[in-house]
Amino acid sequence: MERVIRKVAVIGSGVMGASIAAHLANVGISSLLLDVCPSELTEQERQKGWSLDDNEVRNRLAKQAIERLKKTKPAPLYNNDFANRIRPGNIDDDLEKVKEVDWVIEVIIENVKVKQQFFERLEKVWQEGTIVSSNTSGVSINEMVNGRSIAFQSHFLGTHFFNPPRYMKLLEVIPGEYTKQEIVKKVAQFGENQLGKGVVIAKDTPNFIANRIGTYGLLVTLQEMNEYQLSIEEVDAVTGPAMGRPKSATFRTLDLVGIDTFTHVANNVYEKVKDEAEKNVFAPSELLLKLVEKGWVGEKAGKGFYEKVRTGSSKEIRSLNVHTLTYEKRKQVSGASLEAAKLAKGARQRLRALLATNDQYSAFAWTVLKRVLLYSAEKVGEIADSIVEIDQAMKWGFNWQLGPFETWDVLGLEKTVARMKQEGEVMPNWVNEWLAAGHTSFYKEEGQHSYFVKDGEWQKRGINDKRISLQSFKKTHLITSNQGASLIDLHDGVACLEFHSPNNAIGADILQMIEKSVELVERDYIGLVLANEGKHFCVGANLMMLLMEAQDEEWDEVEHIIHIFQQTMQKLKHCEKPVVAAPHQMTLGGGVEVCLPADQIVAQAETYVGLVEVGVGLIPAGGGCKEYVRRMSESIPCDQVDVQPVLNELFQTIGMAKVSTSADDAKRLGYLRQNDRVIIHEDQRIYEAKQTVLQLARNGYQPQEEQKIRVTGKEGAAIMKLGANQMKLAGAISEHDHLIACKLAYVLAGGDVRAGTLVSEQYMLDLEREAFLSLCGEPKTQARMEHMLIKGKPLRN
Ligand code: NAD
Repeated sequence: MERVIRKVAVIGSGVMGASIAAHLANVGISSLLLDVCPSELTEQERQKGWSLDDNEVRNRLAKQAIERLKKTKPAPLYNNDFANRIRPGNIDDDLEKVKEVDWVIEVIIENVKVKQQFFERLEKVWQEGTIVSSNTSGVSINEMVNGRSIAFQSHFLGTHFFNPPRYMKLLEVIPGEYTKQEIVKKVAQFGENQLGKGVVIAKDTPNFIANRIGTYGLLVTLQEMNEYQLSIEEVDAVTGPAMGRPKSATFRTLDLVGIDTFTHVANNVYEKVKDEAEKNVFAPSELLLKLVEKGWVGEKAGKGFYEKVRTGSSKEIRSLNVHTLTYEKRKQVSGASLEAAKLAKGARQRLRALLATNDQYSAFAWTVLKRVLLYSAEKVGEIADSIVEIDQAMKWGFNWQLGPFETWDVLGLEKTVARMKQEGEVMPNWVNEWLAAGHTSFYKEEGQHSYFVKDGEWQKRGINDKRISLQSFKKTHLITSNQGASLIDLHDGVACLEFHSPNNAIGADILQMIEKSVELVERDYIGLVLANEGKHFCVGANLMMLLMEAQDEEWDEVEHIIHIFQQTMQKLKHCEKPVVAAPHQMTLGGGVEVCLPADQIVAQAETYVGLVEVGVGLIPAGGGCKEYVRRMSESIPCDQVDVQPVLNELFQTIGMAKVSTSADDAKRLGYLRQNDRVIIHEDQRIYEAKQTVLQLARNGYQPQEEQKIRVTGKEGAAIMKLGANQMKLAGAISEHDHLIACKLAYVLAGGDVRAGTLVSEQYMLDLEREAFLSLCGEPKTQARMEHMLIKGKPLRN
């Protein structure tokens, strides 16, 4: 039987080792985390009377690393309790234990000699069948295991995770000369299916794929900045979203990576490549060396290309003048091409708009792009087998929205090649031959399939059979649609309701589509999935409409809006066919309430759930309060048990607008139920939600029935209000927070009834609505809503 990966040993508990162990823990894989034994005692250890032979001391590095994981931000763990899945140890006492594991990942310092010594030592305890890999960012995979047996080398490969491993999608898998194909396949599949990574197979060349192209891109940007005499703000304005790159653009990215680390990474290529022109690009730049010498290496040093300075109570960000090496006030950058890009929608249109307008910024963007595209084309075959690995590596490892070859297609292959040639550039042969054969792009779509160029021919792209693309289903299987949402046929009797309003905020059009979907699904389908492919699942209800009605004192209108929301949620809840919600990323306020009526939730692991209405001066009134109180009453059905502690937790969670840091954390906070599913791989979420609908239907689905809710009444409200009073007295919450908290306590307790009273769902909805309406009339609530709409963040008043 094929050996599966169940247990892992991670060697090296630094930045990467600990966070790789954390991500393994996230997906339920336990690991052994080993580091070296310390050679000296700390003061604290001395005071405790410990010696260097004590286990506590010998395992200190790994132990401390595990503790650090619980405090690191952004959180490496889905849930801090998962840290228990990591066992600390040291390589002197515990190396033998690798006999119990299926995979050993080496994550020790980037030094070829140290890595070689470690593998020599490891081989002595290694057993045939155990996979061994290195997380190196630049050391040659083959060189590292030089001298090891062929059997060992056949189980050895590179697994290059990007930092932070939980959040960065890229995993480069690098086979060595002797690595068995089955091992490469196993690790790639594990990375993809179990760890949710985007895997690319890279060749054993300096810095592999993403760091080779990415470093080149950053270095040519620095060179061209000199040629075009631009400031760092100007370069960042061009090389960020306008070019389909992240907001951190060039210099903020360098500050985040660390200018010292970046110089080290670039230098690795410089030392290893032979081609003079290529060497020149990777050669240590004077500016970078100067910054390293001064210690201005970026975020970790407090200054790099940008510097954060405190002036009084506010913070100011200043930028480096690269000529004088002084920090100056940042200047606003504007230009016709940048404005055109800002107005365009989507990465493709933005890029086209940027280059279509002639000014110095578009000329600079073109030059930088041209060099990156040409370099990528030259490297096909050398660093990766095809253009696909290069494009995917740049998107997953550097957060580019388009890979180099996708960019090329967007700009028009024939047109851009002609321009490059006119400017004296030399094309790699394969590009010339591809164009000479009459092709006009590197990728093409035909029917349900897409193709890419490989070795001078079209090659079909593999289809992930667990990926459902709503965009492609919509082209041929749209059932009905309006401005805010669409109902799509996903085959096998399952329909999917997709939101597509701005930010997927819920307005009247989405509510109408939910109602219509319930009607159509009850008539023609076996079940419904609620999912979309937006950046976020849903950031809440459309506040704009609500605020306008409140400011005009149109209370009947406000009441009508909430009433419709509540009734639509009730219809969804009592749908005769199974409903499964599949949220991802931000799922806030109304976005949570729209998931609550579902029979089950299938959330992507990276889902940040929160009833955050308090932040805009309101309480959840789309059934959110009612639904959580109902669940609580259902899980503790007899009135002999004290539900107050659970209710207090709920009060705190909603009252403090807590947002989960993952789907697992949402279970801890009580937003999700224990039987809700968590899907690691973001591409498989909609597929899995559909499977859950099919399963519920197969198991003889019974619609949800109306049930009475047991509430804690006046007594319960008094306890919650007491907590709110204490917080107000301690100055932890404002007068207005206190008012909202009291209304929330009243609703969650079921109003003015006696403890243990059974109430109807409609009664609870009426309480929610009344409280919501009264808060809408408060000027401070209106100020909070306005602030959120204009500034995008909550106002504390
Ligand atoms: P780090 O310095 O934070 O951690 C290295 C750890 O290795 C330390 O805890 C050290 O005590 C331990 N160590 C040293 N020698 C050892 C030995 N012989 N046996 C066991 N442990 C030993 O480094 P890091 O940033 O975590 O990098 C580790 C590896 O990952 C390097 O190869 C690096 O190139 C690669 N990498 C780093 C990043 C990143 O962003 N930091 C990203 C991708 C890959």
